[in-house]
Amino acid sequence: MATRSVEAIIRPGSPHYVGDGFRVHNFIPGNQGASMQRMNPFIMLDYNSKYRFAGTDKPRGVGVHPHRGFETVTIAYQGKVAHHDSGGGGGVIAQGDVQWMTAASGVLHKEYHEKEWAKEGGPFQMVQLWVNLPARDKMSPPKYQAIQNNTIPKVTLDDAGSTVEVIAGTYQDTPGAASTFTPVNLLNARLKKGSAAGFSFPAPYNTALVVIEGSIVINGKNQAPTDHFVLMANDGESFTVEATDDAVVLVMSGEPIHEPIAAHGPFVMNTRQELIEAFEDFNQGKFGYLED
Ligand code: MN
Repeated sequence: MATRSVEAIIRPGSPHYVGDGFRVHNFIPGNQGASMQRMNPFIMLDYNSKYRFAGTDKPRGVGVHPHRGFETVTIAYQGKVAHHDSGGGGGVIAQGDVQWMTAASGVLHKEYHEKEWAKEGGPFQMVQLWVNLPARDKMSPPKYQAIQNNTIPKVTLDDAGSTVEVIAGTYQDTPGAASTFTPVNLLNARLKKGSAAGFSFPAPYNTALVVIEGSIVINGKNQAPTDHFVLMANDGESFTVEATDDAVVLVMSGEPIHEPIAAHGPFVMNTRQELIEAFEDFNQGKFGYLED
């Protein structure tokens, strides 16, 4: 198998706020080469790098908003997020947990710091990743996969205690916790200093890393520090990640969906007409109702 090389190491740009609770660096679509088309099926990635929120009785977050045509994946590294949706669903995403929400035909939801956590405040660190759906599944019914950390399969790498959490897809033949509509691998490598992990995905799969903690060297030569995004090329399958400090690395690799993308705000469809329909359906209340 050929080595997959590093295409770009992208530093975090200036953060912006989503609502008042998520202070994020946008890596996908971004302005440094990781466009929706380039990264498909990964069409948006916002990264709340570790940031300390002060305690408050008014939880910060983002109010009621719709989604259609894709899935939102929220990974909580530090802090707690509460969510509620127009289907009557709700829950808490705690440290180490993952929420895989299939918006598909449409949901309204809101996302806030969990009330008790918000009172105390503290360090908060999250990833929100949007995974595209193929045309045939864009209007399927919405659903949730609430994935608690203790249900995520973990592959032990060595005696040092390095592990790979398999959120979705497979790692070393271990299947992940989440089901997906198209082939998607989503892994958390938790590597002790000096440990290394190998990864292999079909060359056409679009692949990237986010260095959540620590620092790493890819393929023995490319250094990436904390909070950086590593865009991998499509010139081979296999690459290695070595931790030069205790590290946490989010690894994503997915089969591209070869369909047109028409995106506007919270809607990601295939055609402009479908976007117009999404706005009309939203304005006519077809996404349901949710109190602010
Ligand atoms: Mn949302």
